[in-house]
Amino acid sequence: MNEECTFEDYQKSMADNKILGVLCADCNTITAPPQAVCRKCSSPNLSPKELGKNATLQTFTVIRVAPDGMNPPYIVALAETDDGPWVIGNLIGVDPDKTDLELIGKRVTMSSQHTKGNLYSLADFHTLTFSLQ
Ligand SMILES: [Zn+2]
Repeated sequence: MNEECTFEDYQKSMADNKILGVLCADCNTITAPPQAVCRKCSSPNLSPKELGKNATLQTFTVIRVAPDGMNPPYIVALAETDDGPWVIGNLIGVDPDKTDLELIGKRVTMSSQHTKGNLYSLADFHTLTFSLQ
């Protein structure tokens, strides 16, 4: 089965506090954020799949010089979801000036936040976020 999952679908799901990926019918791998083909076997036989909210922080960086419209400093992190895919989001609830490598390996809960449209977007959008558990 090939059921399309568009960027708009992904954004709408985040507005409802759901995080969508796509499940591969050929190898059972979840790809997130949704893409046109499976990240493992490149199959286009994908259908939308809601991810769980738990993940583990793998790395992060503090953004101090931000693109226009963003409000530095803030933390961008890479986390491995319990469903498999590694996703990028903003780590919230942590002071960017008080981060250290102790953050790596911490368990986080994924959610999303509304982000005002800026020079690089067509409209307002939702950003994936991580909060320490
Ligand atoms: Zn696959």
